[in-house]
Amino acid sequence: MSSKPLLSVRNITKHFVTKKSFWGRPKEYAYSLNGISFDINPGETLGLVGESGCGKTTAGRTIMGIYKPTAGEVYLHGEKLDLSKGPDKRIQMIFQDPYACLNPRMTVGEIIAEPLEINRVYDNDKAKGERVYELLELVGLSREQANRFPHEFSGGQRQRIGIARALAVNPDIIICDEPISALDVSIQAQVVNLMRRLQKELGLTYLFIAHDLAMVKYISDRVAVMYMGSIMELADAESLYTSPMHPYTKSLLAAIPVPDPNVRQDISLIRGEVGTYNGQGCPFAPRCEQASELCRTKCPEIKHIEGHQVACHLY
Ligand code: SF4
Repeated sequence: MSSKPLLSVRNITKHFVTKKSFWGRPKEYAYSLNGISFDINPGETLGLVGESGCGKTTAGRTIMGIYKPTAGEVYLHGEKLDLSKGPDKRIQMIFQDPYACLNPRMTVGEIIAEPLEINRVYDNDKAKGERVYELLELVGLSREQANRFPHEFSGGQRQRIGIARALAVNPDIIICDEPISALDVSIQAQVVNLMRRLQKELGLTYLFIAHDLAMVKYISDRVAVMYMGSIMELADAESLYTSPMHPYTKSLLAAIPVPDPNVRQDISLIRGEVGTYNGQGCPFAPRCEQASELCRTKCPEIKHIEGHQVACHLY
């Protein structure tokens, strides 16, 4: 694995206007991302986890150029991306609900060929068709299925179509936005295994967004834990799961169901609901048992400790 990052995210901030004045000027904002930064190395998978509403999907969409960031930069191979121009074809996305993003009136072949047409990759239909067949076979479908429509496929097959479409233009990185959470548990492992196989065969790089910590550990080399628009901890997957440092990471791991009924789980570390963050102090302070006065007034900065990046005043 090269040590030069493929993707670098620097201080990405995204505020959505929630209320406007009579004159149409922004009056209130929702703070969705509060200056997140991380690198993704070529060929690795970075897992991005957190509870629903923590900003992980917004992070993926902002990096992708679907949302315009309020501040911050994204670099691909060291080159700054102009996110105001919208998505860059070198960054593709696999969506959570494959059915919702596959046009029901298009055949599967047309759906997979669409990014090739938008980006004018081929100037003849035969080469484009061959590429579509190749992609279908790559994701475990058959070329005969190119003329069928999305409703004729199962959920797992539709996600395979979504993966084929994302791969069509040979992207440098794929942002996987909860790609298995809408699928049956029995199908989830098949899709994750397909993604791992494709990563090996094609040298893919993934940002894998999910709330299922067990699955994230299975697929990720490193994991970033998000809470209310901020990264709380980032570390090597093994180290994060065996020696978590941040109180929020510890509470999330303690809440993972253990199949053994004799094991008493300590979910007491996590209290209350995700509220709103007013930009003051540590976002986790209202739910943290170890919160001090400092935590309520000063936002902790990321510190590098024993291979972990951790944002907590305890360190
Ligand atoms: Fe808890 Fe304070 Fe650390 Fe935040 S900074 S996680 S409130 S101890």
